[in-house]
Amino acid sequence: MADRIPVAAGLFAETKDGARLIGSRCASCGTPYFPRVDWCRHPECAESKIEEAGFGPSGTIWSCAIQDYPPPAPAKFDKPYRPYAMAVVDLDDGLRVLGQVKTDDIRSVKPDMKVTLVVDTLCHDDAGNEILTWKFEVDHA
Ligand SMILES: [Zn+2]
Repeated sequence: MADRIPVAAGLFAETKDGARLIGSRCASCGTPYFPRVDWCRHPECAESKIEEAGFGPSGTIWSCAIQDYPPPAPAKFDKPYRPYAMAVVDLDDGLRVLGQVKTDDIRSVKPDMKVTLVVDTLCHDDAGNEILTWKFEVDHA
């Protein structure tokens, strides 16, 4: 029986209100972090007060590119390799984060597009398990 397995533990979650990245935010200066950190790295922060924080699901593409060739290890993908779009997304709650874009039309992905964080298949392992990661799905208004 195939399972759905996160690519790494503790990075994201699916809630009834959509997907969330699990990171940290400093309660003193407001700086968001992903993945989690133990202390605030903001050079002007007076007092590090790190709290767990969820980020997403709504955001806007800041920059994007096509991954035309297979990325080097430890990146994981199903073979044969299929190019995909990558985007740097500004989530509405302040985190800027990189992720794959979930679309069949990778050349249509452009800056300023509204996107939603989702949990989706990254690849499959040798046992046929589905390896999950976060991606961004373009909103169709
Ligand atoms: Zn801080």
